[in-house]
Amino acid sequence: MPKSILKIALDVPLNRLFDYLSGGQVAKVGQRVLVPFGRRSQIGIVVGVAETSDFAIEKLKPIMQVFADELPINAETLNLVKFSADYYQYPFGQALLSALPARLRQIAPAVSRKQYAYQLTDLGRQLDVEAIPKRQLVNRRVFLALRASNLLTEADLDEISSSARKAAKQLVIEGWASSLQVQATVRTLETQPAVEPELNQEQALAVARITQDSQSFKAWLLHGITGSGKTEVYIRLMQHVLHRSDSQVLVLVPEINLTPQLEARFRSRLPNFSLVSLHSNLSESERLHHWQLAQSGTARIIIGTRLSIFTPLPNLKLIIIDEEHDSSYKQQDSMRYHARDVALVRAKRLNIPVVLGSATPALESWHNATANKYNLLSLNQRAVTAAQLPHIECIDTTKVNLQQGLTPQLITALKLRLARKEQSLLFINRRGYSPVLLCSACHWIAPCMRCSSKLVVHLGQRKLRCHHCGHEQKIPNQCPSCGDADLHPTGHGTQRLEQTLAQLLPTARIARVDRDSTSRKNALVEILDKVHNQEIDILVGTQMLAKGHDFPNLTLVGVIDTDSALHSPDFRASERLFAQLMQVAGRAGRADKAGQVIIQTQFPEHVLFNALRTQDYVTYAKAMLQEREQVQFPPYVFTALLRAEANDFALVHQFLQHAFELARSLSDKVLVYDPVRPQMERLKGMERGHVLMQASSRPALQQLLKNLVSQLRGKTIAAKVRWAVDVNPLEF
Ligand SMILES: [Zn+2]
Ligand SMILES: [Zn+2]
Repeated sequence: MPKSILKIALDVPLNRLFDYLSGGQVAKVGQRVLVPFGRRSQIGIVVGVAETSDFAIEKLKPIMQVFADELPINAETLNLVKFSADYYQYPFGQALLSALPARLRQIAPAVSRKQYAYQLTDLGRQLDVEAIPKRQLVNRRVFLALRASNLLTEADLDEISSSARKAAKQLVIEGWASSLQVQATVRTLETQPAVEPELNQEQALAVARITQDSQSFKAWLLHGITGSGKTEVYIRLMQHVLHRSDSQVLVLVPEINLTPQLEARFRSRLPNFSLVSLHSNLSESERLHHWQLAQSGTARIIIGTRLSIFTPLPNLKLIIIDEEHDSSYKQQDSMRYHARDVALVRAKRLNIPVVLGSATPALESWHNATANKYNLLSLNQRAVTAAQLPHIECIDTTKVNLQQGLTPQLITALKLRLARKEQSLLFINRRGYSPVLLCSACHWIAPCMRCSSKLVVHLGQRKLRCHHCGHEQKIPNQCPSCGDADLHPTGHGTQRLEQTLAQLLPTARIARVDRDSTSRKNALVEILDKVHNQEIDILVGTQMLAKGHDFPNLTLVGVIDTDSALHSPDFRASERLFAQLMQVAGRAGRADKAGQVIIQTQFPEHVLFNALRTQDYVTYAKAMLQEREQVQFPPYVFTALLRAEANDFALVHQFLQHAFELARSLSDKVLVYDPVRPQMERLKGMERGHVLMQASSRPALQQLLKNLVSQLRGKTIAAKVRWAVDVNPLEF
């Protein structure tokens, strides 16, 4: 008898598979199917085929449709998702379906949007660029690019400008260009690779060591100071691996904003290998198309944010994780996985190398390197020999007169840069005008009613806004508590700093980069273009600016008010601050100009600043790890949180108390702490609490979590709250 029972994963919050009859249709493992579920139909993935079922056969329903034209998801990917779902205590079906592009969760065959390429017509070839009006800048650039090459795909056009596709269509309307349909968004341009820079000794050694061992699992920690040329090492490794036939490389980056630059660099150096990106800024059809190119093995280089770690890649031979310490690799809802940790598991199972790169590795990774679990490679020199390390100084804000929050030293340094026509960057990790609205009569501070947080003043829009839940209200005319009209925006945010600078330095051209100023698509790219074209003198921004961007003419970095992170109850806050400040300091003086960094603080003697002044990550990491070991914090112990929230705290408390007692009874190897409230007690109108579990053995913790979750699922007390397990949590 043929196997006719299909085990199907569905996007439902139950940790089990569902049995269906094949109904005479042929469905392979990994294939997408449509099945009846309750009164609706749902998309599912076949993960097993069997002859028997635990349920009565006559009660099973047949599947409705097999999407037989689509490639099935390979076993390696299914197994990886299964492992992750188990490890992070999340239902497998939900984990699997949410790892797919949105189009594959919809009830329709997954057809990619047609891709087009453009070329000049005979008429267009006779044309001079002057025939296109000067103000149509992009049209001109596209025209010139078309003239320089035979064919440009949409992917090529995207590199020219975000509006290049529109420009190409206009050229078609004019009759100067024609379009044709092509297979893939791969680059058609046959270009010579850009010139290879020479490697310095450290880079060469790193490349040599990794390539010697490139056909088996090894985790490499590439610790390289900012500007030491980590990307060049990645490129050489990719070259080495890609020249083996069909092999694929996955490059993870922490932020969508960083993909275009890295993409451009990879394309120019590895022009003959097709490259796709995968991140949430792509349209649904683009993402599907890129995903399918990766899945079919057509795309050889895949560059993406954390979600791309679950992409099926039939010939994956190398994984690179850039800025491996970045907390955005950790998913903070649904399946709370850490893409770096999943990548390590994936590499090990595939027996391929994985390279973790960072100037400030996560303490977990550094610990693994010192314990010889990872192989450490260091890049201590800047790649451009002329480039100097920036000079870093801390200014004690309690000892000088501040002018609107700025020290005289910083103002003088800014003026000097303006006179020399060099650029400056001011880093302040708080967007908005000012962090609080204060009544000077009764000290009332505008709170968010839905969160345990203060409302941030956005003066331009005359609004108060909560940065946690998005709540928005008008700035009141008088204090709601005492009726006094004397309400003051207190403290500095990016908007206020921008305003202050405009007053102090009226000739300076200032740009602000934060989530508000870059919410429009391409806004960030436009600002960065202006910076590169020397149309900006001073950049004011949040951590968005700290990462990756290279500004050769930027010689001054000012850091304003980061002191709150020095004394945060979150034990990881100082680790994050150190990484952030190292990154932001690295922005100064990257080319042949020496950089200066001025940090305004009330605690200039803090150990963190001492390490920063000497750019000494190693000493800092050692001190931090010693501290963690003494108090038994990660990476010396393994932790997990049981998080719960509800409208009514009594329900949360009841649930957590029950879970706490249950967890205690289930294991004597795991330390279970009393239920407590997190830093943000209330968020988006929900009352929150959690139970922390800690163990020196990972298997012991995993065993407890498994038992705990299976016993909690389906309990009435658990149905009254929203709860989730967070393994290796980053936020408390
Ligand atoms: Zn008041
Ligand atoms: Zn709020």
